[in-house]
Amino acid sequence: MNHFQYKDDILFCEDVAIADIAAEVGTPFYLYSTETLTRHFKAFDGAFSHPHITCFATKACSNIAVLNLFGELGGGADIVSGGELFRALKAGIDPKKIVYSGVGKSKEEMRFALESGILMINVESHQELEALQEVAAGLGITAPVSFRVNPDVDPKTHAYISTGLAKNKFGIPIQEALHSYQAAEKMSHIEIIGVSCHIGSQLTDVSPFVESLQKVKVFVEKLNQAGITISYLDLGGGVGICYNDEEPPLPAIYAEALEREMHDLGCTLILEPGRVIVGNAGILVTKVLFTKQGGKKFVIVDAGMNDLARPSLYGAYHAIKAVNRKNDAVEVADVVGPICETGDFLAKEKEVPVCRSGDLLAVMSSGAYGFTMSSNYNSRPRVAEVLVKGDVFHVIRKRETYDSLIAGEMIP
Ligand SMILES: *Cc1c(COP(=O)(O)O)cnc(C)c1O
Repeated sequence: MNHFQYKDDILFCEDVAIADIAAEVGTPFYLYSTETLTRHFKAFDGAFSHPHITCFATKACSNIAVLNLFGELGGGADIVSGGELFRALKAGIDPKKIVYSGVGKSKEEMRFALESGILMINVESHQELEALQEVAAGLGITAPVSFRVNPDVDPKTHAYISTGLAKNKFGIPIQEALHSYQAAEKMSHIEIIGVSCHIGSQLTDVSPFVESLQKVKVFVEKLNQAGITISYLDLGGGVGICYNDEEPPLPAIYAEALEREMHDLGCTLILEPGRVIVGNAGILVTKVLFTKQGGKKFVIVDAGMNDLARPSLYGAYHAIKAVNRKNDAVEVADVVGPICETGDFLAKEKEVPVCRSGDLLAVMSSGAYGFTMSSNYNSRPRVAEVLVKGDVFHVIRKRETYDSLIAGEMIP
């Protein structure tokens, strides 16, 4: 359920007509609904009865207004860079609810995380552990650590967003992880507090989650036998959403499946949902510049692959709707952007509303990995982000200008 709905053929975000926002802020822009963000966060977080922290995966949608909203709802953050840590802290997220994942943390990033007093650093290799020990010793601080284990489970999702297979770069193979824990135990400035795993994104079935939790459970028991106890079990993110006709598990089903396995482990659960909370809480609004009939029908819009990379990167599907619906007429077309790349499309040979120059289109389900993956390619200023709450809207990130494009550049 989201709050992008038609009222008499006019597409609204909550109680604001989207065309009114376009008239004021121009196009393209990302648009988020406070009500949908809130509802999705609460549905997910509220599905768990076990002690837990919902650490929103910042990389899915990192605007500080969005992070602040989740912080106000009691959420934490899963971060993968110093920049995301900076954002989370600026947004007012409690550092004791921040967990840090990622295979390639720099020493500067480790220092920043330790000095900020975050809850847990999810270490992904032995060399990273050694680097962390060195940084922590230098600061005279103990680093709270969990290892990200790779359970070798097939999440049955797109190859680029599967992370828990042995052939993926993520985590430490679960069979070898006991050695890592034992090595960490001997280190002066490392404190072991958890185990983590994250097997992929856009999963539409609970069984891979359950399978990986079962493997992790066996591993935690092995740790306990070796005299190592943990307080946190971080199960990552990855719950999918409906872009088209997928049927992802409801939060209640997902939570129940995990808690059934969890009940006797005695640790706090950490969850890192991203897409499932923000994906259908945001859209990209774009304007039709031209249409043309070449070998096929092209609808040329003012948003491109630099603004929304998912179709080009993953062949991902996003439904495209008319902001002001004239009739139900659809046609098969490619919706393409202005970028000088053949891979620059938002829809390829898909049914889209018949439209003409000047019409506004809504690219649905763009709240996750939309703005955060956008770039300045082709020297295109990044678009504005707008947040609606009830009958008002706020620009939460200004459209970049030509000056922002060259800020920091110089001719020697
Ligand atoms: C990307 C990522 C997530 C979020 O994944 P979603 O599919 O958006 O829920 C969570 N944890 C880690 C470690 C990630 O890399």
